[in-house]
Amino acid sequence: MREPVIATIGLGANLGDARQAVHEAMQAIAAWEYCQLHAASPLYRSAPVDSSGPDYFNAVLQISTRLSAPDLLAHMHQLERGAGRERPYRNAPRTLDLDLLLYGAARIDSPTLTVPHPRMRQRAFVLRPLADIAPALVSAQALQAVANQEIEKV
Ligand code: ADP
Ligand code: MG
Repeated sequence: MREPVIATIGLGANLGDARQAVHEAMQAIAAWEYCQLHAASPLYRSAPVDSSGPDYFNAVLQISTRLSAPDLLAHMHQLERGAGRERPYRNAPRTLDLDLLLYGAARIDSPTLTVPHPRMRQRAFVLRPLADIAPALVSAQALQAVANQEIEKV
């Protein structure tokens, strides 16, 4: 069995009861096989970036996991589907979005999975909660670069 890795997952939702969806997803992830909750950020509320519709609720989780990165992504997609996620068009509003931000120090570039997540450093709704739970991973400079994005802790 593989050694545990710290994986970082970004959560977001802006349709339906989005706050509840993020909350329930955090609990579901913490209960996955071969996964242990390592850290959970506070909840944030953010204006849509490259997307539309109501404000988003966002959070970031770190888990210690023995699942491979592709297995983790499969679990994430299953949870998204369970929350009623549909993909009518790119960047559409969503009931639940789960992004694999980091998988230990791994670099992955496959057709279905890119890690570190290629857009994470452009997004305040990733960097702000990530800085709360893993300050060593987010420099003051990185936070400054997204300081113009509307986001608040809720
Ligand atoms: P987005 O989150 O960019 O708005 P989606 O959630 O619809 O878009 O994801 C589209 C596809 O991105 C997924 O089917 C998945 O295979 C792929 N993908 C590539 N890298 C990642 C990653 N690090 N985390 C999550 N999905 C990823
Ligand atoms: Mg996604």
